[in-house]
Amino acid sequence: MIVPELPEDIRELKERVGAFVEQEVYPLEAIIAERGSIDPGELDELRRKARDAGFAMLNMPPEHGGRDLSMLGQVALEEESGKATNGLGFAVVDRGPRELLEIATPEQVDRFVAPIARGEYREAWALTEPGAGSDLAGLQATAVRDGDDWVLNGEKWFVTSEGDPGFYIVLAVAEGDQTLFIVEPDAPGLEIVRTPRFLHDPYIDHHPEIVFRDCRVPESSRVPASGDEGAKEWILVERLFIAARCCGAAKRLLDEASAWAQGREAFGSPLSEHQGVAFPLADSLTELLAARLLTYHAAHAFDTLADRKIVHGKVAMAKLFASEMAGRAADRALQVFGGRGYMVENPAARFYRELRVDRIWEGTSEIQRLVIARGLFKRGAAPYLG
Ligand SMILES: Cc1cc2nc3c(=O)[nH]c(=O)nc-3n(C[C@H](O)[C@H](O)[C@H](O)COP(=O)(O)OP(=O)(O)OC[C@H]3O[C@@H](n4cnc5c(N)ncnc54)[C@H](O)[C@@H]3O)c2cc1C
Repeated sequence: MIVPELPEDIRELKERVGAFVEQEVYPLEAIIAERGSIDPGELDELRRKARDAGFAMLNMPPEHGGRDLSMLGQVALEEESGKATNGLGFAVVDRGPRELLEIATPEQVDRFVAPIARGEYREAWALTEPGAGSDLAGLQATAVRDGDDWVLNGEKWFVTSEGDPGFYIVLAVAEGDQTLFIVEPDAPGLEIVRTPRFLHDPYIDHHPEIVFRDCRVPESSRVPASGDEGAKEWILVERLFIAARCCGAAKRLLDEASAWAQGREAFGSPLSEHQGVAFPLADSLTELLAARLLTYHAAHAFDTLADRKIVHGKVAMAKLFASEMAGRAADRALQVFGGRGYMVENPAARFYRELRVDRIWEGTSEIQRLVIARGLFKRGAAPYLG
């Protein structure tokens, strides 16, 4: 099946999440646009309301308070969260680190993952370094065994977290292998060096630079599974969610821009009757449908295909196409609004800034093309088209 129907319960949930975003998030965005910053109290309140509405941790298994949603189901909800700007959708469809459940020890799950599922804190992934972003093979951070401990040294950049994370998941080279370590923020030797400002600010997350200097963590903090595989799985899931959020963003941009184009008059007729305005929106709708089909298709492949290499290729195509599509959709929508589109109070202006990162994080567009091209030359086109 290329794209399956969404089950009835997911359709209903998707509608409720969409309505929640419109009712609870859009007014908050307007306040943030006016004030220029996000108030942590307002954010906590939003998260609490979303949790009460039953939208949190749905990707987690029932023993961690979730519904074990399929990837297709998660992508459908993530799409709705993408309609929010300032990253506020993350507080609505609040996910748990499902990937960690598969690779951490039972003790690590109890101690670190269970509090996330209870809504006590969130985690932060620290893979990227100043000298290793696209090419994580160049990782410089090291972990050296010393008795019952590991001693970490290295520098991590762009460590995304909302407020103070409960723990960092740090990728370092230990005895020749890339390995993940769970590091608590108060570990001696861990220092947040700088928190740069980013183009998408004010944003729900910040992305500090962190240094580890002889930072000692116990053996019980080492994630036993391959760090390389664990990191790849996290990246894979995040790529799909980026694709889904880009589809949601483009949908909102189209709704808002087409409503404006039909209401605003210039040269004696509504803007929508000028082909120069209508055709770009027609292109956006066409490309959005294509991106959506690709994203749902990749999510279905994630749920059903045993060959993960093919899944990686399909997810790369979805992330590449959806993120580039959303960038174009934002640019066109802003243009349709004219000067009003350049005001921060207009979601088109905010998306124009905020969607740019979707072509960079979790692997740039070039890296997605690399994944796709490598798969094509190794396996041919056929397995990716089914
Ligand atoms: C806001 C934000 C949040 C982030 N959050 C996290 C996080 O939570 N955790 C984390 O670990 N990382 C995070 N990242 C890091 C992100 O994943 C990297 O920025 C990204 O993978 C690119 O790495 P780089 O910035 O080092 O660019 P580089 O790898 O230096 O690449 C620079 C340019 O060269 C191109 N390039 C590189 N290699 C090739 C090639 N072989 N062929 C063609 N072009 C190539 C790239 O596409 C890019 O255009 C975040 C980044 C941002 C901006």
